[in-house]
Amino acid sequence: MKRIIAALLTTAITVSITACGSQSAAGNTASSDAGTSDTASVSAGTSASETAAAGASDKVYTIATDTTFAPFEFEDDNGNMVGIDLELLDAIAKDQGFKYELEYVGFSAAVTALEAGEIDGVIAGMSITDERKQKYDFSDPYFDSGVAMAVLSDSDINSYDALKGKTVAVKMGTESETFANSIKDKYGFEIKEFEDSATMYQDVLAGTSAAVFDDYPVLGYQISKGIGFKMPLSMEQGSSYGFATLKGANPELVEMFDKGLADMKANGTYDKIINKYISK
Ligand code: GLN
Repeated sequence: MKRIIAALLTTAITVSITACGSQSAAGNTASSDAGTSDTASVSAGTSASETAAAGASDKVYTIATDTTFAPFEFEDDNGNMVGIDLELLDAIAKDQGFKYELEYVGFSAAVTALEAGEIDGVIAGMSITDERKQKYDFSDPYFDSGVAMAVLSDSDINSYDALKGKTVAVKMGTESETFANSIKDKYGFEIKEFEDSATMYQDVLAGTSAAVFDDYPVLGYQISKGIGFKMPLSMEQGSSYGFATLKGANPELVEMFDKGLADMKANGTYDKIINKYISK
């Protein structure tokens, strides 16, 4: 992961995202046109279903994700939802022979739906924290991350002290929000909550919020795409991302995810997916 973080910092122009055909390139059968629907139906490949037929059922798991969280899930130039989470889940589902349906609802809505028992799982760059482990079963970690502060490239804010009296944008229900809340009194700033990363970034670009706290790889990706932000401080706390289910609700799904993840790491698919979105 250090390698990836370093890459995000130093390779502003070499990060590559495939603007089209990314899903077919990965053999993905998902049809996820975010422009017309919130829900994409995805069926795992038949060959995988056959090989894993013993443990497979006809159940279609409903899995919710975020809306604008590049490079993990986001809409590409053609209006298709793409990203590391989506490709990884699809590859794992094919490998393990389970079917799923994706709902692009946003991070806090995904977590709320999970808690209400309305969906089976969340894959949304969701940090595995001790607090969350009380309520959710997480898969093995699949990506290392952490919280960071970003400001406009020409901003002179280069410390938390400099946030005094200013407004900081955070996304509802995230680890970044928890972190911002934990230091806001000490440094004397206000918090403004948003539903998604895109609107948060807009607020900073508009000059309304002086800074944003979000996940380091997500900010790094935007910076590499020329959003006009910088991260003056190093990453705060490191939590890895995991696939989540409600505690005790779908142990077989977590087990399949872990097995599939291990398979994808072993056969090179994991690296292929990561490298497609994040350059070394
Ligand atoms: N990793 C962060 C969290 O789990 C943010 C996730 C997101 O915004 N999709 O809180």
